[in-house]
Amino acid sequence: MLEIVLATANPHKVEEMQAIFALLTPGARLIGLNELGAGPIAEPSETGVTFEENSAIKAIEYAKASGQMCLADDSGLEIDALGGKPGVISSHYCTGGREAGMSRAERDQANNARVLRELEGVTDEKRAARFVCVMTMSSAQGMILGQVRGTFEGRIGRAGDVPRGGDGFGYDPLFLVAPAFVKTSAELPTEEKNRVSHRRDAAEKMARIVRGL
Ligand code: IMP
Repeated sequence: MLEIVLATANPHKVEEMQAIFALLTPGARLIGLNELGAGPIAEPSETGVTFEENSAIKAIEYAKASGQMCLADDSGLEIDALGGKPGVISSHYCTGGREAGMSRAERDQANNARVLRELEGVTDEKRAARFVCVMTMSSAQGMILGQVRGTFEGRIGRAGDVPRGGDGFGYDPLFLVAPAFVKTSAELPTEEKNRVSHRRDAAEKMARIVRGL
């Protein structure tokens, strides 16, 4: 059985990925960082300017530190009218990428307010956006074995019509899901979002690579 370390301590991500991989690659077992016997590993700094760079940094650093094959992801939102922003600073867009000691809920609200403000007066057609998830697999020695990009297409709603929906997190209450652009991704039940999300798309592509290893 191929054992792969998932570079996340988030139990929801571990569970979601384990479910997808169990279905697609029964020969591989994914374990979360907190299941590692060796104890906690220092979090590497995400100094890259692309999702590809940041997910590679995490995969390589955690693989070398754990001595095991490692799968890492990096995700965020790209808005066409903002030249691809918030991009790699999605989680701290309200402060221009700086860590400012805010809670996740405070950040989510301030990030969403900033996006709506910056899109004031922009027409529906130009509000196209996508969630992106890049996954990288590193060998135990720190060699990249595969990298994939998953996407989830939509559009940022207009202030007044959004935020909407009680599920999801981050930018979900602003994100009208393509092709209908009626519901936000925060209005999709979790299982439905998990079937169409950027993470699902990337995980399926990565599972195909793992099957070939
Ligand atoms: P992470 O890769 O889970 O740390 O995500 C980085 C940031 O991207 C999050 O803090 C959110 O702001 C945004 N993001 C990533 N995936 C989603 C999603 O599925 N819904 C809403 N926001 C997301």
